Amino acid sequence: MRRVPLLWQNAWWEGSLKKRTLLIFTGPPGSGKGSLSQLCVSKLGFKQVSTGNLCRQEIAKGTQTGEKIDFLIKSGKLVPDGLITQMVYDWFLEQLDDGALVILDGYPRTVRQAELFHKMILDGTFPFRVVVVQLALDDEAIVKRLSSRFVCQNKQCQAIYSANPDANMMPEKEGICDTCGGEVRRRKDDVPEVIRERLRIYHQHAHPLLDFYNRVGYRVFKLDADQPIKNMLHQFEQETDGLAL
Ligand SMILES: [Zn+2]
Repeated sequence: MRRVPLLWQNAWWEGSLKKRTLLIFTGPPGSGKGSLSQLCVSKLGFKQVSTGNLCRQEIAKGTQTGEKIDFLIKSGKLVPDGLITQMVYDWFLEQLDDGALVILDGYPRTVRQAELFHKMILDGTFPFRVVVVQLALDDEAIVKRLSSRFVCQNKQCQAIYSANPDANMMPEKEGICDTCGGEVRRRKDDVPEVIRERLRIYHQHAHPLLDFYNRVGYRVFKLDADQPIKNMLHQFEQETDGLAL
């Protein structure tokens, strides 16, 4: 049997207030936050809330909010902090019913979002203990990675493929998802000029965010994102195992 690392062995706090460990995955777009989250969900039994997926679900529903989000994303802009936080809050209310560890993917993205999120924890509605996992990868590697990325259009699947031969991640049949048979296409926002705009916005917020996490006392550790996803999961397990939680 595989060893269960300390972090999720002690998922619940033993004090009077039961606290759940919540992981914030942070890093530039394309650094593999989504892929690592998916592995943590499938292999380690974590739950994941991805603001990207919440946005795409809203767009798919065709609501007025969805149309607004669609426009902002296509222009490489950010969805307003209050709106994103509300979607995360609603997700917690609906989904937070068991003891699974929760990963936040793509949120908080701004200091304002982090402040709103921290307030949510402090008011006691969701008593979390927060650990920040920082995925590190340089900009040029990201532009190369994202502009060769193809995604399954099936909303339930969203498997990721790459046209970069080095990555060895093309589907067996061109344009068809190996997993579900859905259509595999490039995302509208995965073109170099939009990627660079997203990176510019990302860097604008990344340092103030880390400062905020350190100031409020969240635990932060760094992961090398320039390695195959399986190795990244391995490093993640080692790092979290070493945390004295
Ligand atoms: Zn698929």
